[in-house]
Amino acid sequence: MDTPPGSIPSPYEGLQVTAGELFPLTCPHCQRRFGDVKDYLSRTTPIFYSSGLMQQEQPGSGTFVLLVRNCLCGTSLALRCQDRRSRSEDAQRRRQQFNLLVGLLREAGVDAEAAQAEVRRLLQARTP
Ligand SMILES: [Zn+2]
Repeated sequence: MDTPPGSIPSPYEGLQVTAGELFPLTCPHCQRRFGDVKDYLSRTTPIFYSSGLMQQEQPGSGTFVLLVRNCLCGTSLALRCQDRRSRSEDAQRRRQQFNLLVGLLREAGVDAEAAQAEVRRLLQARTP
C-alpha cells in the first residue's frame, strides 16, 4: 500500500514530502484519511491567520519544515516536509525552495502576497 515516492505532484517535489511514510495520513481524532498532499491540502484548513508553515531543527537530520493545518474535526495535523540538507546556502536552491513553499501556500488558499511574506520570514529565520 505504499505510495511510491515519485507520485507527488511536481510543485511539491522539492519539499521532499516523505509520502511513503506520511500517506495515507490518518487524523488521530476522527480517523479521516488523507491519501496524498493534494488531498491533505484540500481537506484541511489553515490555522488562524497563519500559513501553518513552521521550521524545526532536529539533531542528526537537520532542519525541516512542517506544514501544520487543522483537520475538519479541529485537530492539528503536521505534515513534515523534509528540507534538503545542504547547509551551504546556495542561492539557487533557496530561490527554488522559496518558490516551492509559496506554491504550496497558494495551493492551500493563502493569497500570493501573504504567502511570499510568510515564506520570506521563514527562510530568513533560518539564517544564523
Ligand atoms: Zn480529524
